[in-house]
Amino acid sequence: MAVQDTLARLIHDVPDFPKPGIVFKDITPVLADGDALREVVDALAEPWQRAGVTCILGIESRGFIFGAAVAYSLGIGLELVRKPGKLPRRTNGITYDLEYGTDHLEIHADALTADSRVAIIDDVLATGGTAEAVGKLVERSGATLCGYGFVLELDFLGGRKRLGESMVHTLAHIG
Ligand code: AMP
Repeated sequence: MAVQDTLARLIHDVPDFPKPGIVFKDITPVLADGDALREVVDALAEPWQRAGVTCILGIESRGFIFGAAVAYSLGIGLELVRKPGKLPRRTNGITYDLEYGTDHLEIHADALTADSRVAIIDDVLATGGTAEAVGKLVERSGATLCGYGFVLELDFLGGRKRLGESMVHTLAHIG
């Protein structure tokens, strides 16, 4: 069975969560199924096997789960991109626009160097605002952004267009 079939079988749509009008893609059944988890992590890691990536960046919070597994699979390290005030040491941050208001993400200031080659991992590419902001954090650090990996891409929101020329790898697309 293809990984797309596994995801279609296990990912639950939760209407109106966390607010009316959003159909939330619940990936927790994928985490709960050992065979599916292995299949999804193997497929997420595959495009980076020969890309010379030195660091995975996981986006809070489900990006931590998949990012850690991909980093383990590749035998490289993981750095965390977190909501404000969560990282204990000196940070670099970025503020970005949401539909209503703004959000802010942070990374440890010493997480990336000019030698780092980075792949950004998260569960869902929706509008692309979060991933775009994290990409800017990578570029500001002087590191090389190799690309992005997602479990699901919500094509109808057009997030990919915000990620420029970078490689964007997704396991399954939703209309
Ligand atoms: P965006 O910045 O719009 O691409 O949103 C990306 C972030 O929001 C990711 O970290 C996702 O985990 C989360 N997200 C956005 N839309 C959904 C959705 N429909 N279902 C689950 N997670 C979502």
